[in-house]
Amino acid sequence: MANRYSFEFFPPKTDIGREKLKDIRKQLAALNPEFFSVTYGAGGSTRDNTRDIVLETKNAGLSVAPHLSFGGDEESDILELLNNYKDAGIDRIVALRGDIPSGTGVTRLVYARELVEFIRKHTGDHFQLDVAAYPEIHPDAKNYNADISFLKDKFDAGANSAITQYFFSADSYFYFLDACEKAGIDKPIYPGIMPITSYKNLARFSRNCGAEIPRWLSQKLDGYGDDQQSIIEFGNEFVTELCHILMEGGAPGMHFYSMNQIDPIKNIAEAVMQSHP
Ligand code: FAD
Repeated sequence: MANRYSFEFFPPKTDIGREKLKDIRKQLAALNPEFFSVTYGAGGSTRDNTRDIVLETKNAGLSVAPHLSFGGDEESDILELLNNYKDAGIDRIVALRGDIPSGTGVTRLVYARELVEFIRKHTGDHFQLDVAAYPEIHPDAKNYNADISFLKDKFDAGANSAITQYFFSADSYFYFLDACEKAGIDKPIYPGIMPITSYKNLARFSRNCGAEIPRWLSQKLDGYGDDQQSIIEFGNEFVTELCHILMEGGAPGMHFYSMNQIDPIKNIAEAVMQSHP
């Protein structure tokens, strides 16, 4: 069976960002990914923006999966969005709890499992559902096994596959796959791949989402100081090698966090997709 590759975008806020994204999407489409995905601001903060980019991607003849979460939204809002997507011929969704952006006043968080149940209840088997998984464990989780058990709940509720948070240790992914299998999970879990383009931003982002940068890697990246070019070159080489290790170890494909940039994700994806079609 062919490996599954996908690319993630966030919805740009400006016309310039939207034009740039069209160009990036065109270049990445040439690699023939299975689909693109577009993130969603929990609490509805990007509802219109996400929907517009999703529909535009679909109209460009490409397969696309909107991300979706309840946040403070009413069930009727989510149902309307689901029907818009269904009517447009969209058949995939990435279902999440989401993180509430600060300053929105939204406090309600709804577990992703409940969203999966809601989508299945109202739209049956129409959508292929991906959920999030955390090889280094979600920051709010009680412990390792509890997090895996809640992942299993999402599959039991009807999710078809999972995409992981990014990580830089192949071992954490392989150990996680074993633990999931022992817990009775038999669905594909696609590694999420984050390019390395800046150390400070990556370190801050990783602290917030619970992804670990191994000590040797953070020392190496920190050592480049302001030498951005060297960080990019080293990051490109390191992440490409990580992808090869994951694919050779049995990953069923990958999900690339493009960060709406063509470089370095195109180079990394091209190398991996050619070696592991
Ligand atoms: P859940 O699966 O609901 O789990 C959240 C936490 O609650 C976990 O710690 C879990 O162990 C725990 N938990 C689950 N069920 C229970 C229960 N019944 N009782 C007690 N604890 C429980 N965020 C966005 O805002 N927008 C996006 O577009 C977006 N896209 C993402 C894409 C991917 C591939 C990934 C990996 C993450 C994405 N995120 C996004 C981030 C994600 O929303 C956050 O990590 C969020 O904090 C958790 O979402 P979840 O769907 O994993 O939550």
